[in-house]
Amino acid sequence: MGYSAFQLLKEGLTGNKGWRPVWRDPEPKAEYDIVIIGGGGHGLSTAYYLAKNHGITNVAVLEKGYIGSGNVGRNTTIVRANYFLPGNSEFYSHSLKLWEGLESELNYNVMHSGRGLINLFHSDGQRDAFARRGNMMCNQGDDAILLDRDGVRAELPYLDFENTRFPIYGGLFHPRGGTARHDAVAWGYARAADTLGVDLIQGCEVLDIDVDGGKVTGVQTSRGPIRAKKVGIVVAGRSSQVAAMAGLEVPIESHVLQAFVSEGLKPAVNHVVSFGMGHFYLSQSDKGGLVFGGDLDFYASYAQRGNIPMMEHVMEAGMTLMPAIGKAKVLRSWGGIMDMTPDGSFIIDRTEIDGLYMDCGWCYGGFKAVPASGWCMAHLMAEDRSHEVAQRHTFDRFRTGGGLMDEEGTGSQHNLH
Ligand SMILES: Cc1cc2nc3c(=O)[nH]c(=O)nc-3n(C[C@H](O)[C@H](O)[C@H](O)COP(=O)(O)OP(=O)(O)OC[C@H]3O[C@@H](n4cnc5c(N)ncnc54)[C@H](O)[C@@H]3O)c2cc1C
Repeated sequence: MGYSAFQLLKEGLTGNKGWRPVWRDPEPKAEYDIVIIGGGGHGLSTAYYLAKNHGITNVAVLEKGYIGSGNVGRNTTIVRANYFLPGNSEFYSHSLKLWEGLESELNYNVMHSGRGLINLFHSDGQRDAFARRGNMMCNQGDDAILLDRDGVRAELPYLDFENTRFPIYGGLFHPRGGTARHDAVAWGYARAADTLGVDLIQGCEVLDIDVDGGKVTGVQTSRGPIRAKKVGIVVAGRSSQVAAMAGLEVPIESHVLQAFVSEGLKPAVNHVVSFGMGHFYLSQSDKGGLVFGGDLDFYASYAQRGNIPMMEHVMEAGMTLMPAIGKAKVLRSWGGIMDMTPDGSFIIDRTEIDGLYMDCGWCYGGFKAVPASGWCMAHLMAEDRSHEVAQRHTFDRFRTGGGLMDEEGTGSQHNLH
């Protein structure tokens, strides 16, 4: 189904009765060439690029809930390419380029907004680290501008520059960074994959993975068995649990991350802003809500809700940086399950079981990766070799210790990634 101003007007005047579902609701077939477990952003983009880039359309995406019920609809929508380390920088650079063409690629308004992202720094040491990061970003072909204090003040006049515990020294400005409407990204990929022939099967939980003689043969689901030549596990926070169905142990721990949104306010915050001396970041949605978040909760969990101490921690950081935020009422908060790896970087790799692949370990940064992750996972599953921008993202780095991409320099300290 297409959309137009005329159609919106017509439906608005006639009770919205003419809208039709934008993707089919097929019954699962007995067998597919490829089954993707997980209908989040990464599972949907993998299915889309399998069909679009590789011509493989006998594909099913199995989603235990509904499309968009997982982290893809729970994140704070930030999209950026400001990574430092080789391995990450080329991958996220590729992803941002895909974001910039995504609306015409999917013919869907995902509301991608390159509004600019500013990471604040509060000491000389932090300035040096951000200057190096900015140079790496420029070397990668992305954009970065080092702002001094006055430069930040000109862009973000509402921050506290005078009486603050952590004075603002400056910021690293990434003009192409920004946000996108997260649900629309899921819906856009879902509609595009469906149009190319992919079966999206909602309300279909994978309960077991069938393996015979070291090779995957299919899955057992809440809607019956489905045979498959290849299976991709793309389930974000549930990665360890689903991998265990095939007898695999993966280096992933699940933690909760919370987000918050205020009541709608007049436009005030034009960028995405992150505080350098605490876990707090902020943007303003097109509806006017201030969208903000902070650190992980401090324990492993599969609960999709947060805790009150972390709420307090985030609010404190927000008040330190921007006291005016205290006047806004928080409308709601929610949580999602993060698939944390020991080095904070992701995995797109084969497993030791023939025909079984995993895309996981997105930590709290996998929304921005949705286009490139699907692109690379589809490439791996279709051609059985890693895409050039995801070559370093293997399981092996945790076995050998070589090639770890510890972007934050925090090792296996999950709450510090
Ligand atoms: C509060 C919060 C803020 C965030 N902010 C950002 C941000 O600003 N920028 C950014 O880049 N990233 C952010 N993230 C991270 C990002 O949202 C995730 O890394 C990313 O969405 C994970 O990939 P996904 O979309 O495929 O996950 P999901 O949407 O969680 O998809 C996985 C799907 O697998 C399904 N599934 C699980 N088990 C089974 C099973 N057995 N059978 C069938 N289906 C199953 C689940 O129901 C789910 O729908 C944030 C996350 C949270 C929670």
